[in-house]
Amino acid sequence: VRTIGIIGGGQLGRMLAIAAARLNCGTVILEPQADCPAAQVANRQIAAAYDDRAALAELASMCDVVTYEFENVPVSAVEALSYDVPVFPPSRALEVAQDRLVEKRFLNDCGISTAEFRAVDSQADLEAALSEFGGKGVLKTRRLGYDGKGQRLFASPADSPEGAFAALGGVPQILESFVPFEREISIIAARGADGAVSCYDPAENVHRNGILHTSTLPARIDDTTAEAARDAAGKLLAALDYVGVIGIEFFVLADGGLIANEIAPRVHNSGHWTEAACVISQFEQHVRAVAGLPLGNPARHSDCVMTNLIGDDIDALSQWLQKSETLVHLYGKTEARPGRKMGHVTELKR
Ligand code: ATP
Ligand code: MG
Ligand code: MG
Repeated sequence: VRTIGIIGGGQLGRMLAIAAARLNCGTVILEPQADCPAAQVANRQIAAAYDDRAALAELASMCDVVTYEFENVPVSAVEALSYDVPVFPPSRALEVAQDRLVEKRFLNDCGISTAEFRAVDSQADLEAALSEFGGKGVLKTRRLGYDGKGQRLFASPADSPEGAFAALGGVPQILESFVPFEREISIIAARGADGAVSCYDPAENVHRNGILHTSTLPARIDDTTAEAARDAAGKLLAALDYVGVIGIEFFVLADGGLIANEIAPRVHNSGHWTEAACVISQFEQHVRAVAGLPLGNPARHSDCVMTNLIGDDIDALSQWLQKSETLVHLYGKTEARPGRKMGHVTELKR
């Protein structure tokens, strides 16, 4: 493989392009926004919409394989592209990850536990589902939510659901039962073209204002729970005939039991620590998988904490730069808007 196409031009695409360059693979980004983080390091940008047929044809003609860095790429675009060039991960993974209802059914079909859920297509559906769940739950749009957007928590039966369906836009929604988790973890796993599966250690994740704040290694879980996370990853990857890196988020219950929350068919924010604490990062692992190269060793050589730099957090940059055991990674964004991911740091703990 000489050239890899990447649909999406955000920081994940940027970090994939850096990893690709280190393996002598060129990259072409398909991203409508000019001066996006990935375009600053990729060899070329095609500045067009993700579903622009002419742009997709151009991308296919320039690349040996195409991947994507966000899960809202139109499935039809990936399917059209697949006639002309191999696309990994497969479009089925996108289809599953784009719709929370399809996703939960798929996870359950793989034998993986999720929160209980009900499809909500009206205010009446919401009220019926909430009363089934004892007045508590999390209402989410089925599509397009991220960083906690498109969600409404019903923490107690006193929270009135009045107007809630319309407040989330009246689009198709899902009510999930509220999971009384003790902590949250994620596992970053990869599957090669030959079916080999490789998992990084699970990370313990803390969110702030709905956005990932820190990922800490090791997670405070026992071996049985870690093994269950790896087992779930293996099942999912096989069921999707997956090629590439996937991120899977879980809730951990007090007894160590795992409840899957969601999957992301791409490199994942909670896997950024791998670039500092493993020889092979999740980005290189993804490039290796989609390029048909052997997967690298996911072993972790250090404990660590990855912290996202969101908005104003970037003001502390000079302090982070003074720490000797900290890897700083910035995304080339100039304007620090609230909630915007500007970079991350990984502090080794040894
Ligand atoms: P991401 O940015 O990770 O893609 P998202 O917007 O897709 O996030 P979720 O991961 O579904 O949203 O939920 C965000 C957070 O809200 C979770 O990490 C968890 O802390 C909390 N949460 C979500 N669903 C539930 C639930 N059913 N029970 C309890 N807490 C929940
Ligand atoms: Mg999500
Ligand atoms: Mg999430």
